[in-house]
Amino acid sequence: MAVSSPNTIERDLALDDLIVIAGAGGFIGGALTRYFHDKGFSRIRAVDRKPLPDWFQRVPGVECLSMDLGEKANATRAAEGATEVYNLAADMGGMGFIEQFRIECLRSSLINTHLIDAAWRAGVRRYFYASTACVYNTELQKDPNVRALKESDAYPAMAERGYGWEKLFAEMFCEEYWAERGLKTHIARFHNVYGPNGTWFGGREKVPAAICRKVIEAKDTGKTEIEIWGDGTQTRSFCFVEDCVVGIDHITHCNRLIATPINLGTQDIISINDLVSLVEDIGGVKLTRRYKLDAPRGVAGRNSDNTFIKSVLNWEPSTPLRTGITKTYAWIEEQYHDRKSGKRVVQD
Ligand code: NAD
Repeated sequence: MAVSSPNTIERDLALDDLIVIAGAGGFIGGALTRYFHDKGFSRIRAVDRKPLPDWFQRVPGVECLSMDLGEKANATRAAEGATEVYNLAADMGGMGFIEQFRIECLRSSLINTHLIDAAWRAGVRRYFYASTACVYNTELQKDPNVRALKESDAYPAMAERGYGWEKLFAEMFCEEYWAERGLKTHIARFHNVYGPNGTWFGGREKVPAAICRKVIEAKDTGKTEIEIWGDGTQTRSFCFVEDCVVGIDHITHCNRLIATPINLGTQDIISINDLVSLVEDIGGVKLTRRYKLDAPRGVAGRNSDNTFIKSVLNWEPSTPLRTGITKTYAWIEEQYHDRKSGKRVVQD
């Protein structure tokens, strides 16, 4: 259910204050960079480990630095002179990646450890951290008809191995930098963000992008089958990236949310089978389903309880899934055909 927002975002930020976005070469960091640029902020420093030509989005007029924020000296350089720092840098991907590469996921703790300290030393006013629904206790997510997860469900802790524990640890860092050192930190727990300009092939892609690609590929090659990881009964909710960046802005500029993790997602739970049907419908095709039961499938069910975000912000993500997936499908279809014809696409 969409909630209109009578609240305007109250930013204590001038248009020429320096905003630093870590992970800006990636999906959500790239979208956030564009968002602030389009709002008129004139000093944005975008930082990512990837070489510049590999960034998903390069926004004109934005300072772009390619460096590894797991190194303390680089984190210090990145935070220099900043008024706000947004940490969206992490070594991550969809279930296929986070179940297989737990050490890489855990190593992202170096990024936040150095960046939050550098931000505090630089006198930054606000620090945002991108957390995840993977911090929630996995014992509560064993049924596809899961009860939606509320913020207090992260404790007692039994997070997703690797990725989830790293995020929970980083959340704790954010909470303590406020409690002991007075740095205003803001923490959003994202629930399955999707949209254009994200990973859509190669092993790190998430389920909406993977399903769009498989349907597009099947249509193009005349294949009549689609492979689904697990039995398709797993349930999730999905948040369109444009809602996600507005949510980040709201959350970071709300004093009630200092050092207080909050869900950022939709409450519209859907099974993977129904998501496949939706994408087939958008693509105008019907495929035979082959279930790969030994593939990574994650928890059985997960949904966001938005009671808290609605009560604090009088806002929640509202883009209907069909609208967001239609835009995502169109973007991936274009990428797919560009790649096939030998053109360079975002991930090449
Ligand atoms: P992404 O992989 O597209 O972007 C992350 C970026 O971080 C990448 O461009 C990567 O190169 C960069 N990075 C990794 N290690 C780095 C390092 N050491 N130094 C500098 N840059 C580094 O992922 P995304 O989907 O945009 O996710 C952004 C953030 O949101 C991440 O923290 C992620 O864990 C979190 N998150 C995303 C989702 C989602 O559904 N996409 C869900 C929950 C949480």
